[in-house]
Amino acid sequence: MSVWDDVVGQEAAVASFTAAAQAARAVAEQRETSGQAAPAAEHSAMTHAWLVTGPPGSGRSTAARAFAAALQCTGPTPGCGQCKPCRDAVSGAHPDVVRLATEKLLITMDEVKELIGEAQRRPWTGRWRVILVEDADRMAERTTNVLLKSIEEPPPQTVWLLCTPSADDVLPTIRSRCRLVTLRIPPARAVAELLVRRDGADPELAARAARASQSHIGLARHLATDPDAWDRRRRLLMAPVSLRSVGDAVLAAASLVEAAESEAKEATVERDAKERAELTRALGLESDGKIPPSLRAQIRQLEEDQKRRAKRARTDVLDRAMIDLLSFYRDVLAAQMGSDVERVNIDLSEAVDQAAASTGPEQSLARIAAIEECRTRLRSNAAPLLAVEALMIQLRPQA
Ligand SMILES: [Zn+2]
Repeated sequence: MSVWDDVVGQEAAVASFTAAAQAARAVAEQRETSGQAAPAAEHSAMTHAWLVTGPPGSGRSTAARAFAAALQCTGPTPGCGQCKPCRDAVSGAHPDVVRLATEKLLITMDEVKELIGEAQRRPWTGRWRVILVEDADRMAERTTNVLLKSIEEPPPQTVWLLCTPSADDVLPTIRSRCRLVTLRIPPARAVAELLVRRDGADPELAARAARASQSHIGLARHLATDPDAWDRRRRLLMAPVSLRSVGDAVLAAASLVEAAESEAKEATVERDAKERAELTRALGLESDGKIPPSLRAQIRQLEEDQKRRAKRARTDVLDRAMIDLLSFYRDVLAAQMGSDVERVNIDLSEAVDQAAASTGPEQSLARIAAIEECRTRLRSNAAPLLAVEALMIQLRPQA
């Protein structure tokens, strides 16, 4: 067992991280015995700033946390997974692994300033002070510029780990100061094995889930552990096929957006209520009492944060729906082209064959383009209902 067990299908990245953690250990030991500064970073497998990139669901934050653990590890080989520092770093309890993950659309300037303060401290118990930013792409340029200074000249024991979907998601000035580690889309087999081992999923179900989610680890887990998730997915993928009119398309769009909203709400409502109760308690208010004008700003700030979070959750749910729809029409197109690539939607083979027989490849291409267009619009803040309506109208079977 080691901290790398859950970093599935990423042999190259794990090799870089392991070499870095070994070099980091040598640097730290040298510093402790001789009091000498570390050797120049460019000659070492270890460096002070890392950019971990990889497509959504490839396990960026899991990989970054495993690397943080390996840096703190006191076991025989870095990242042993057995020692206390390893276990604490992986579970999020290590005092020298400071993690920023946001569910908001943007990381705020205040959050980044606090992080920079954390980066200036010496380690409490570990050898390194690791600052892990899970959504480094969610930063305004102004905020990034503040971060840049700290990344350029960190204290000798500080290590920055930034995670983004791709290297283009951060400013070139940041990118050029970080060593890049790129995760690939893990093989479906590796994802299925993880679900069986870690989540106790049934092997056959895990294999199906890994394939249907196109190796997105979080989604695969959702499909393998939540029986309703398959039904929702099937309803979504079958919806366009049964549309008869523009009116049907509009209704289908409304129900898809509504379902996304309620799924997003389910994910955030409990947390929202808890945060509000904590804040009112911290402000010394009765939970059902009136809020004095002087404290309204704080309550309003919380409400705005929660609204942003709900919006992001809804955007994420809709984007996942778009990815599922894309997989269906890619299967259809592959069937039309006579390709023998293995299908994503094995459980919907009949529907794929039917759609392939009743339309041509140019229609499938147009549908795929329409879904991509809808994704772009959803990401760029278009009204979700309008974007999805326009999509459904384009997806409906043409007479
Ligand atoms: Zn360890």
